[in-house]
Amino acid sequence: MRLLLVEDDDMIAETVLGSLRRTGYAVDWAQDGRAAELSLANGVYDLVLLDLGLPKRDGIDVLNDYRRSGGEAPVIILTARDAVDDRIRGLDAGADDYLMKPFDLDELAARVRALLRRRTGQKHPVYTHGELTLDPAAHEAMKSGVALNLVPREFALLQALIEEPARVFRRAELEEKLYGWGEEVGSNTIEVHVHSLRRKIGAEEVVTVRGVGYRLKRLG
Ligand code: CA
Repeated sequence: MRLLLVEDDDMIAETVLGSLRRTGYAVDWAQDGRAAELSLANGVYDLVLLDLGLPKRDGIDVLNDYRRSGGEAPVIILTARDAVDDRIRGLDAGADDYLMKPFDLDELAARVRALLRRRTGQKHPVYTHGELTLDPAAHEAMKSGVALNLVPREFALLQALIEEPARVFRRAELEEKLYGWGEEVGSNTIEVHVHSLRRKIGAEEVVTVRGVGYRLKRLG
């Protein structure tokens, strides 16, 4: 899952980035309205966290343009506690949810999960594939009922695969899901994560499709 954080306050941004990255999301950070527009034009995001009071371009304008141009990622706006008008304008402009500053990081994480679930059309919050289960809310993965001790990137990798178990993911797609900009991604980084994930969940669970990428094993 790849998220975009649009926030000009360094302290808030660092806190949110740290928290979401530790959870295993790839998060990019845009520090003003123009940077946000450029990032959104790339269209790779699963969810956007948008501050409204931004340098260079107002968050509401960024959101309006994004929705008008067909952008569909869920958007959570971040507003000041007393800014009722901003919240209404934000929701009218196509935001899906809002959080009032200062917000609780656990609440932010819960709202992010809820919107991402809705986006993937998955009402039940637990994914299963054969003997594997993955619960994003509890951040827990199991095989045959036994907890797997996955580090965040392994968890994110398994989540990407299990959300679309029939799909073959190219390495570049997985890099996009696991890493934000400015994060060093070595040429064989995905292979390393796949290797360590296989050691924990069983080598047969992740199939290499030669010259293309990876998918989960077929069932049945
Ligand atoms: Ca601001």
